[in-house]
Amino acid sequence: MSDCIFCKIIAGEIPSKKLYEDDEMLVFHDIKPVAPVHFLAVPKKHINSLLELEEADAPLIGRLLHKAQEIAKQQGCEEKGGRFIINAKSDGGQTVNHLHVHFLGGRALGIRIC
Ligand code: AMP
Ligand code: ZN
Repeated sequence: MSDCIFCKIIAGEIPSKKLYEDDEMLVFHDIKPVAPVHFLAVPKKHINSLLELEEADAPLIGRLLHKAQEIAKQQGCEEKGGRFIINAKSDGGQTVNHLHVHFLGGRALGIRIC
């Protein structure tokens, strides 16, 4: 998608601090971290939102989540954990309309759900 910021990051048109890349996903640091560890895991395929996920893409999102937990552990969050978040559409606070998983860790996040 030509006007999508994450597609531009995937295409290398906008720089990012990459943690992992393969042919179907990219993991990079969030530009405005809200925790000591805050990265985004993004499929290279442009999918607007989790609410638009097709069944055929379910295995891709499974692999994305598996990689995200691997990177979270590499970032030092294995013992204390953290939070995986997928915001979906406007009421969910999604600001970038390219499906992505946030991981927040490195501090206690409490029970607040936003
Ligand atoms: P969401 O509100 O779930 O759509 O989250 C979008 C996230 O993308 C926010 O946490 C932003 O800080 C992050 N973000 C936006 N632009 C960039 C960028 N160029 N590089 C890294 N993260 C970004
Ligand atoms: Zn995109």
